[in-house]
Amino acid sequence: QDGPKYHGIVEDCCCDYQTVDRINEELLNPLLQQIVKYPFFRYFKVKLWCDCPFWPDDGMCRLRDCSVCECPENEFPETFRKASGSVLSSDDLVCQEGKPEATVDRTIDDKAFKGWMEVDNPWTNDDETDNAEMTYVNLQLNPERYTGYSGPSALWDVVYLENCQKLDPSGECQERRILYKLISGLHSSISVHIAAEYLLDEKTNTWGQNLSLLYDRVLKYPDRVGNLYFTFLFVLRSVTKAADYLGQADYDTDNPVEDLNTQLLMKKLLYDHKLQTACPKPFDEAKLWKGQSGPELMKQTQRQFRNISAVMDCVGCEKCRLWGKLQILGLGTALKILFSENGQDQSGQRLQLQRNEVIALVNLLNRLSESVKFVHEMGPSAERMFGKIIGGP
Ligand code: FAD
Repeated sequence: QDGPKYHGIVEDCCCDYQTVDRINEELLNPLLQQIVKYPFFRYFKVKLWCDCPFWPDDGMCRLRDCSVCECPENEFPETFRKASGSVLSSDDLVCQEGKPEATVDRTIDDKAFKGWMEVDNPWTNDDETDNAEMTYVNLQLNPERYTGYSGPSALWDVVYLENCQKLDPSGECQERRILYKLISGLHSSISVHIAAEYLLDEKTNTWGQNLSLLYDRVLKYPDRVGNLYFTFLFVLRSVTKAADYLGQADYDTDNPVEDLNTQLLMKKLLYDHKLQTACPKPFDEAKLWKGQSGPELMKQTQRQFRNISAVMDCVGCEKCRLWGKLQILGLGTALKILFSENGQDQSGQRLQLQRNEVIALVNLLNRLSESVKFVHEMGPSAERMFGKIIGGP
């Protein structure tokens, strides 16, 4: 089987699988891969040392690779260094394994990110207004991949049961089903990344693909693949919906050439003709939160999503926590954009995004794009090797 296994329109979306694969391969993935390497998008501010509000940190990470490397000084944009003074000591040049906490000089943001505001995000527990003990992490040095983290008392189950299925086991309410699909799509994506970069031999430190894991955790369940594509389209829609905002945003990191490239690539992502004709509206948010109970339902779903965001503090592996927090903030940002009416949030304010929200959103889109590409390229081989059905529809 050489062709894609999935056909037709992605459920609850407006584009079909083949179109998604094509625009992803031809346009989105190459662009996003470039964008996330530029300074503006590679430094994410995050609170990694946080107390789990639900149960003690279980520290179940098996590999040393679970720990996060912060930014080595020579990698950090000049503006940050000038502004930061003593923030990055020589201790910070090495991995921060075991380091209890690191603080960020709050003045960095004012000096280096002049055009960005601090605003609350009603969808997430963690945002830049909650600054204690946040640190900058270079995402390029900390790829999301296999860590050996097995999860405590089934953390994913907590996310699903406490926050999604409780709301709507039958799937009768579309808004609640969509929240479930977003989480499931993210879960699929994380599993795909584990399969794409797996530690095959611990003794020789050999990394490679694990197609059996890809099949067992994702491909065997068509709904998980569908939810991955759904989440990708949902986030893509939010990025294109915020095109006016993101097209004019300040990507200045004091690296004129790289910053200009960031701006140009972002404009290409936001306004590309090929994307606009192939999949003009990847998801139609207008039909949600309608009816009398709409506003209350939205508030309820926001609370549920904030709980999911809080659960990320309980991920007992630093690198998983980093990417978990980033991607949940990215999803929260997508929700914030899609459900701000006429460019205004519920309190009537014009949509404002934080710098960190934009970084999370674009990096999340890139991770989802990578997962969709991997499923499209390796799915048929994995199905052939491990699926019961050889060939496919
Ligand atoms: P899990 O993936 O833990 O799944 C638990 C149960 O959820 C399954 O038994 C199934 O019933 C259901 N399920 C599985 N997939 C889906 C889906 N897509 N949709 C709906 N239901 C589903 N590990 C790493 O190696 N690297 C990482 O970077 C990493 N990041 C993580 C980030 C977060 C936020 C979390 C919670 C975990 C992370 N993990 C990471 C751990 C990883 O996701 C798995 O939990 C772990 O590998 C154990 O897998 P498992 O086979 O037990 O099933």
